[in-house]
Amino acid sequence: MTPPAHPPILRVDSAGLPIAWISWQRAAELICTDRVLWSTGESNVTVLGGVRNGERSRLVIDPVIATRDMHRDPSGKVPPLSNRLLFARDRHTCLYCGSRYSESRLTRDHIVPRCQGGPDTWTNVATACIRCNSDLKGGRTPEQAGLKLIALPFAPNTAEALILANRRILADQNAYLSRMVPDREDRWQ
Ligand SMILES: [Zn+2]
Repeated sequence: MTPPAHPPILRVDSAGLPIAWISWQRAAELICTDRVLWSTGESNVTVLGGVRNGERSRLVIDPVIATRDMHRDPSGKVPPLSNRLLFARDRHTCLYCGSRYSESRLTRDHIVPRCQGGPDTWTNVATACIRCNSDLKGGRTPEQAGLKLIALPFAPNTAEALILANRRILADQNAYLSRMVPDREDRWQ
């Protein structure tokens, strides 16, 4: 029997700082090997195990679990840049014309172009549609091309990147992570 598809479980360290999304199978393994310190959230997952003495064992997994890990210093740790996270950061909106597109029609624009020495980093990249990136901007800065960014680029922190990466995030998990995310509303100009 194939196990039901459960949403990912949020794993946090002993200080409550987020580490990663893990599968319920991995979460079950951590619980059974006594690596879990505490867990939280109401929308838990119940996993049925084998039958012993006529009774089926069951394991309840909360949506957020803290394991016995000391966190590596999270300050200055920037999640790796990927198009998927970048487009999610910018709400699938071209930061030049303001139109929304599906992932396949979006590109990673380097605000200061690579050919002018611009780095491939979170604060130098913007989501752009093909037309704005290739036809209108090309190898120029927005100023050189007469374009204006409608939102400021930023580097997400770990909690933010985890929210952006998970499309099946549960309300409990979102609430847990959102406390660690700065208000970004003022980036939209
Ligand atoms: Zn555009």
